[in-house]
Amino acid sequence: MSGKVYLIGAGPGDPGLLTLRGKELLEKANVVVYDRLVSPAILGFCSPKAKMVDVGKMPTHHKVKQSEINKLLVQYAGEYPSGVIVRLKGGDPFVFGRGGEEAIELVAAGVEFEVVPGITSAIAVPAYAGIPVSHRGIATSFHVVTGHEKCDVTLNEAKDQDSKFSLDFEALARCPGTLIFLMGIANMDFIARRLLECGKDPKTPLAFIEKGTTPYQRTVMATLETAGEVIARENVTAPAITIMGGVVELGSSLAWKKNLPLSGKRLVVTRAAKQASGISARLSALGAEVVETPMIETRTLECPYAIPAHSTGSGQAPAGISFDDLVNFDLLAFTSVNGVESFFTQLIASGRDVRELAGKKIASVGKITEKKLLERGIRCDYVPEDHTGEGLGKLLAEKSTACELDESRILLLQGNLADDTLLNLLPRATRWVVYETLPVAELQEWKKDAVASADAVVFASTSAVENFVKSMPQKRPHTSFCIGRMTESAACKHGFETVVSDETTMDSLAKKIVEYYS
Ligand code: SAH
Repeated sequence: MSGKVYLIGAGPGDPGLLTLRGKELLEKANVVVYDRLVSPAILGFCSPKAKMVDVGKMPTHHKVKQSEINKLLVQYAGEYPSGVIVRLKGGDPFVFGRGGEEAIELVAAGVEFEVVPGITSAIAVPAYAGIPVSHRGIATSFHVVTGHEKCDVTLNEAKDQDSKFSLDFEALARCPGTLIFLMGIANMDFIARRLLECGKDPKTPLAFIEKGTTPYQRTVMATLETAGEVIARENVTAPAITIMGGVVELGSSLAWKKNLPLSGKRLVVTRAAKQASGISARLSALGAEVVETPMIETRTLECPYAIPAHSTGSGQAPAGISFDDLVNFDLLAFTSVNGVESFFTQLIASGRDVRELAGKKIASVGKITEKKLLERGIRCDYVPEDHTGEGLGKLLAEKSTACELDESRILLLQGNLADDTLLNLLPRATRWVVYETLPVAELQEWKKDAVASADAVVFASTSAVENFVKSMPQKRPHTSFCIGRMTESAACKHGFETVVSDETTMDSLAKKIVEYYS
């Protein structure tokens, strides 16, 4: 039983344009053989366990020959019986993607395969620039053409050899529909001159759209007669498509993809995968390209254990606890979202439910944790104004001094790496460790590349900073955006330029990032 190969179209760049089927298969894939144009955000859907094979073709040289890619697919299908082998390509696999050749090879080798179409750049990239490829009264057809053929001949030679070209310039010049050229930037001077010679109107409007649908999208307008000159002057580079025809003029009024405040910025988000989506979605909506690179993983313990005061790392055996002990506490203090989630998971697993908390006071370190508690139907009684552990400790200590609380009946629910700040301020309180923080395994190569070229990195904890520095000892972004003063000082210690949010919320951080880049 050999594995099955899936030829998947990744779409033109925006990860939101990957199909549901494509995403589902990427999450399951054992092997992913991918191209240069596939964005890191899409590679991020793959399981960290998947084998990632970069066969990306650079514009000037082929990294891995097509025949070798074909062989690789057959080889992996053999190596992973019943496995999911993904061949991931930019746009649609059958639009100038050589997907057909790969499929033929798979049939010949008797390997089962499926094609998952993708949104082709030929249509989506103009759409993101506000150019409809067809439009009533302007263009009744559109033609997608490769501009890659024959780049090494002079104009005169070309005229002689016209019959050998697969492109029929006479027909293209006569065609009243929209012309869309893929891979044509390097040859555009030549293509434009051939079209002019064949009688196409020199004033035909034309647009080059570079890195369409990504945060780096750029549209450059020209006409058929100025095409070559504009490419050189504006330094239009691949990947770009060229679109020609009357529809191009609609782009000036229909361009809907605004220049967002974080356009053109690649940001690394280091939060644990479970928590990254909130901040990532916010930064993407502001126009940034986000590379999620979790540096820590949190794991809910099966059952919490208690650590007596001042014993972190002292080797003292942790004391086992029973949820029956909850009766000994009047106040539960949560210092993170993980703490909330892990505590409730354990509570339910122990056969109990939220009624165990009836009558107890609840404290939270900050707004995000408070919100998480509210989602579970629990309002907080105490939240410090500064949203720090120290603030929380001081607040609860004050309330104890004022006899509003009994310090010895305070329970702190924390992770194994929590420092002693709270216990130092509340020495008679009890601490339960409800989750563990573990560093994630080594970063995959593709991620290291994506991170190395990023503009900045977002840190939300000191352990994320420490693990990031360990995984990326050399090439890493200079700027860091931090949540929390402790995180900031850890980043500073490792030589990052630091920008810290005013509040420990994602909104506040996103605001700071926008301010920094504006
Ligand atoms: N199968 C792909 C095309 C592969 S050929 C598809 O369906 O889109 C590669 C060419 O596609 C590039 O040279 C460029 O012309 C175009 N292209 C792909 N992604 C692009 C993007 N995000 N912006 C502009 N052009 C793109």
